[in-house]
Formats: sequence, structure tokens, C-alpha cells
Amino acid sequence: MLGKNVGTTTEDDECTDFKLALLESLNPGIRQEVLLEALLIAQGSVEDATKNLSCPTAAVSSKKRRAVGNGYQASLSCYQIKRAFEPSTEPRVKKALTRKGKTLHLYAPDDIKAHTPCSIIHNFLPSDEADALLRELLAESSTYTRETFKLFNNIVQSPHTTCFYVNTLDEAEAQKTDYVYNGSYLKDVRRTTPELRRVSRRVQTTVNAEVQRRIQEYYPGRKKLKYQSPKEWIPNAAFVNCYDGGTESVGYHSDQLTYLGPRAVIGSLSLGVSREFRIRKVVGRGEQDLKEKNVASDRADVEGQISIHLPHNSLLVMHAEMQEDWKHSIAPAQAIDPHPISENKRLNVTYRCYKESLHPRFTPKCKCGVPTVLRCVQKKRESRGRYMWMCHVNYAPGKEGCGFFKWAEFDDDGEPPWSKRIEE
Ligand SMILES: [Zn+2]
Repeated sequence: MLGKNVGTTTEDDECTDFKLALLESLNPGIRQEVLLEALLIAQGSVEDATKNLSCPTAAVSSKKRRAVGNGYQASLSCYQIKRAFEPSTEPRVKKALTRKGKTLHLYAPDDIKAHTPCSIIHNFLPSDEADALLRELLAESSTYTRETFKLFNNIVQSPHTTCFYVNTLDEAEAQKTDYVYNGSYLKDVRRTTPELRRVSRRVQTTVNAEVQRRIQEYYPGRKKLKYQSPKEWIPNAAFVNCYDGGTESVGYHSDQLTYLGPRAVIGSLSLGVSREFRIRKVVGRGEQDLKEKNVASDRADVEGQISIHLPHNSLLVMHAEMQEDWKHSIAPAQAIDPHPISENKRLNVTYRCYKESLHPRFTPKCKCGVPTVLRCVQKKRESRGRYMWMCHVNYAPGKEGCGFFKWAEFDDDGEPPWSKRIEE
């Protein structure tokens, strides 16, 4: 869960997602749908849900499990959508296509960019370059580790392995001593490998072009979003994740903004086994209330999930609207098609652009003396979209944390108040 939010201490986060993440860590290899069902039956108690899952007949009958696990497979053709490809003069209006409890499967780049905050480029690298990078990362991944963190007083491990890369050895050393992730320091930070560096130049060019295209085609007034950086996106850090077999996964989360800032863009390159990347729009608490009262039926469609299929050598760009408004996951897979080079493994490079102005020497420290984590309010209606600095020491195993909280301010370009001082 490096670079990912594993939970927060606000009431915002006593939500299903974090319980689900915990349940997933305690019960690896069980599909998200089954875990969610178990959590619902146990009325939100992670402990009871785990008991029921270890003794399936107790509460979740196998019949019910099958019914849940089958899911609902929809493709755009089922919706008989008429797509207009004529260039329009105004940015296109997106229409939500998901329905509660159902999964919409998307494969085609045009569907993905029209209905999700992402765009995808298939066959991104020349195939020999993709294979070379995959081989290099396979060798690297034999020594990747699982991140350990604390969630609801349980020590849990991420259900996949990870490593973090920066461009120079000096940066790698600085990362180990300065940058904090979930209240802890990383022990293994590596210098980017030759293939990673080579590919990062291509990723940089493509991501910047995709961001500009996104602005022109989808954003109001053809302008970048408020808080989005107007600067060129330069990948200077990368988390590489390894998913070895269908049971390895990651639960619903959004990526940490602490060092990326608001409205972050991430370039995610998939290699090896094809897996499902699931995304879901965050429904605010106020909207949820309306929905339960059946007041706003048009809100009902925001709760379904979308599955984007990520084949070998595809580049997924997570655009600026993604982390604040959506959550994403890699779903466990019942069956996978082995890849000729990597067999059961999917290697995933997530290129990121760390901001100098958000180096931990500048960001607020909590009472523990540790640089804080930057989060965005996703659920609470009154403060939705506001950013906050919070103590995250409580996610480090064996530590308590101080509960520090401070609203975070940014200018329209996503720079903190102290960035002018840094430039001087
Ligand atoms: Zn603290």
C-alpha cells in the first residue's frame, strides 16, 4: 500500500472501503464481491465477517456466494449507446453508465476516455522494449516486499509486493530518510533501472499529450482544473507493483497526494498478465442520504463500478480528476491467462511527478514531529473537495499518533502558500 491511503482517523473513513481493505488483507484471495457481502451480512463488523468467511456456511451460503461472485457482465453494446464521433464545439458531456452493484466492463480506448477519468494506450511500447522492461522488472521483483501497516488496530500486509524507484542514488537515500509513507520510512528505495529510465521518457511525452487532449475534449471551458498543475508533467518517481497470480490484488483506495499535490496525474504501465482495474466514483454522504430516500434517482447510477481491462504493454493515464473523485482497485481474478514471459505475474509501473514544493522539509509536521499526510475530503458533503494535512503516525505498527489536523491551502495551480518563498 505504498503511496496509497490505507485509512484515516476522521469519521469520514469509518466507511466500507477501509473495512473492506482490512477484510481483504485478513482474507487474501477472496473476491471483493464476496467480502462485501460478508461485511454487509455481519453489519459492518470486520471480525464477524472474518469468522463467517472462515466458516462459509455459517452466514454466507455457497449458493449466495455463487450468485454474488458471478457478478453482472455488461459491455457498452448492451446499452445500445449511439456514439457521436463528429468533433463537437463544446467539451463532451459524460453520461454515467454504471448501476449500483453492477460492473461495466470497458476495453476500447474511446469508451474508457469517454466514461472514466482515465485514458488508455494499447501497445504503448515497441514490443521488444516492453518485453525487455518486463524481463528487467521480473528479476527486480524477486526481492520486492509486502508493505506492513496498521489498520483498525490490526497489523496487515498488502496483498501484493511493491518497490519504489527514483532517478539517482542520492534521491534514493533522501527518500529513505525524509519521505514518510503511512507513518513510516521506506527501507528499500532503488535507483531506476536502465529500461525504466528509457521508458520514462516515452511515458512523459505521451502523458503530457494526453493531459492536453483531456483538457481540450472534456474540461469545462477547455481549461485545466482548479489546483491542477500547469507545468509539464515529469515522471521523477515510480512505484512498481507485482501481482503474482490471481489472488494478489489491491483493495479500493485512492493514491496519496502528499508529494504529488492536488489533482495529480499518474501514468500506469501494465506488463505481463492482463488484470482488471476497477474504479468507482466516490458517493458523498449527502448524496447517499438522498439516494436512500429515493429522492434523486439519477444519483443511483454513480455507485456501480467500472472494470478497465489492462493488457500487457498498455499505458493507463489517470487524469487530474481521478484521485479526489474516484477510488480504484485491482480485483482478485478467479482465472488468469499466463503470459509467455512473466507466467502468472503482472508488473505495473506507476510513474509519478513529485513536487519540489511538497518535499517533507516544507510540509506541516504533526506533534509527533513527523511530516503529515495530505488528504482530500471525499465523503462529507460540507467539506468535500477540501484538502487537509493529518498525522499518519498511527498507521505505523506499534505507534499511536497525535491526531494532528490542519486544513491545507493551495493556489489555483496547486502550489502551497510557501512555494513562492522556495522560489526566491
Ligand atoms: Zn502525529
